[in-house]
Amino acid sequence: MKSSDKRQKGLAGAGATWGMFLKVAGSKTDTHGSNEEEWVGFDLDGTLAKYDGWKGIDHIGEPIKPMVDKIKKLREDGVMVKIVTARVAPKKRSDGTVGEDFVKVEWNGKKVNKFAREFIAEWCHENLGFCPEIVHEKDHSMKELYDDRCKQVLPNCGVPIENVLKKLLRLEARREPRTAALRRLVLVE
Ligand SMILES: [Mg+2]
Repeated sequence: MKSSDKRQKGLAGAGATWGMFLKVAGSKTDTHGSNEEEWVGFDLDGTLAKYDGWKGIDHIGEPIKPMVDKIKKLREDGVMVKIVTARVAPKKRSDGTVGEDFVKVEWNGKKVNKFAREFIAEWCHENLGFCPEIVHEKDHSMKELYDDRCKQVLPNCGVPIENVLKKLLRLEARREPRTAALRRLVLVE
């Protein structure tokens, strides 16, 4: 069997189709029966804000313009958006309690707790002009998630889109026409 046949068989075996690849970005969401309003999630570190290593909950990087523009545009269009970040996930603190992370800050001459979401809210107001709900998990109404760690897969196939694109780039490097290359990768008809 030629290597190209093997590649096609592999994707076909996984159930990938040409139409599936083209539709995946704009697919309609099934909200699992939930009547809640659909929402689009945006990760913070590495997605909305530049990230080059953990510096504490009181440090959030500079805004990343294309993603900031994206979340603002969606909101202007009436789409509910949320920040999805592990910064507000419950964690075991140094004192043994479990909850959202915080640091002690000076306020009116006193030391008070300032929680992770308060830093995020300040960052959002400063860089987005509004502060969406801040969560750390998906729910049934999450329609899409923008995240620098996600690996999007073709639904029901187990095929990472990243792999398809990498293969496409390799084919393009061999000067094969884009459409023909994509067809050969995902077409099962
Ligand atoms: Mg991230």
